[in-house]
Amino acid sequence: MDLDHTDEEIAFRALARDWLRARVPDQPLPSLETAEGFAAHREWEAELSAGRWSVVSWPERYGGRGVDLFHWLVFEEEYYAAGAPGRVSQNGINLLAPTLFDHGTEEQRARILPSMASGEVIWAQAWSEPEAGSDLASLRSRAVRTDGGWLLSGQKTWSSRAAFADRAFGIFRTDPDADRPHRGLTYLMFDLRAPGVTVRPIGRIDGKPAFAELFLDEVFVPDEDVIGEPGQGWRIAMSTTGNERGLTLRSPGRFLAAADRLVELWRSAADPSDTALRDRVADAVIGARAYRLFTYAHASRFAAGGSIGAESSLNKVFWSEYDIALHETALDLLGADGELADGPGEWAEGYVFSLAGPIYAGTNEIQRDIIAERLLGLPKGRR
Ligand SMILES: Cc1cc2nc3c(=O)[nH]c(=O)nc-3n(C[C@H](O)[C@H](O)[C@H](O)COP(=O)(O)OP(=O)(O)OC[C@H]3O[C@@H](n4cnc5c(N)ncnc54)[C@H](O)[C@@H]3O)c2cc1C
Repeated sequence: MDLDHTDEEIAFRALARDWLRARVPDQPLPSLETAEGFAAHREWEAELSAGRWSVVSWPERYGGRGVDLFHWLVFEEEYYAAGAPGRVSQNGINLLAPTLFDHGTEEQRARILPSMASGEVIWAQAWSEPEAGSDLASLRSRAVRTDGGWLLSGQKTWSSRAAFADRAFGIFRTDPDADRPHRGLTYLMFDLRAPGVTVRPIGRIDGKPAFAELFLDEVFVPDEDVIGEPGQGWRIAMSTTGNERGLTLRSPGRFLAAADRLVELWRSAADPSDTALRDRVADAVIGARAYRLFTYAHASRFAAGGSIGAESSLNKVFWSEYDIALHETALDLLGADGELADGPGEWAEGYVFSLAGPIYAGTNEIQRDIIAERLLGLPKGRR
């Protein structure tokens, strides 16, 4: 792996930096987990898209710049270093889009991707159910054949930002008689404002109202909104989870920027004789850089025509535990001030969210099982 950037990547970095310097709002936008913040973030997505910075690695015809993953990583480093807003369209961009690139039709890509890139349509992920989280294959929501499409019924839960999103994608049971639970599932897209959909916000620890559960009562989905073949939903869903865990959900740029902010905090707030705290700050910097190298190694593998399999579980466990340690260090540095929700650098809010990292995108217990079985070759646990 060559870690030196090409001249072209260096020029791309400068272009992105200039654009971001001119456009990133001076004041942070309100939280994207609120109605007001969601709207503000949607406008930001439109602005990013107008500059063709919202989905740099997509083909130009869908709103991207057609650049490779290394350019994307460079862009992400600049994005977070510039303090740019969190991405409200991340579910669509990180999960649905790769699914459409791999399994969708050209008609679906042309219809769906441009409005995703511009923030006009924001997508929610509707996979989890009350009895189907880690054991997703036990999901019970169903899709029943009807004239020209399917009728969806059931309950989905833990759907990030679904209270304000426009559309959702999920897997549904279409063959209840299939011989194995993960067979007979179909991957579908639906409108969150369609007749038969009830969206009910779920209270979060921080009181923000965007998280939601969805109740579906014979919601019509036309055939054109089925992704891949009916019955192939599990295979399609599993082929894209690696993206979420392994590469796109938490790009290293975010942690490099956070580690830099932590160093600044150390310089301004710490007692220099506190060597234990100093070592934790150093660990945060080392962790961010190590994660960056690991991610570049993944990107190199993609560039050489490979893919990421179970290794994505290593990334997921690393970034989620790293995020908590980083925020704990910041809060310990800040002392009592760190407990203020709107305190310095909003570390408290980041800490509360970091606690969910070992749960979403597949819990870390499950990731450790995958690492043990598929990477280390240990025997299967009792389940
Ligand atoms: C902030 C946040 C955002 C989320 N956003 C979305 C979203 O947008 N869309 C969506 O569909 N879902 C979303 N989720 C749901 C998330 O994917 C699930 O919470 C996760 O898959 C775990 O499922 P569960 O909550 O049902 O827990 P369970 O599966 O019931 O697990 C409970 C505990 O048991 C452990 N456990 C279960 N089975 C095993 C096993 N075989 N071996 C060892 N340990 C095991 C788990 O690791 C966990 O610690 C989100 C969750 C959070 C916290």
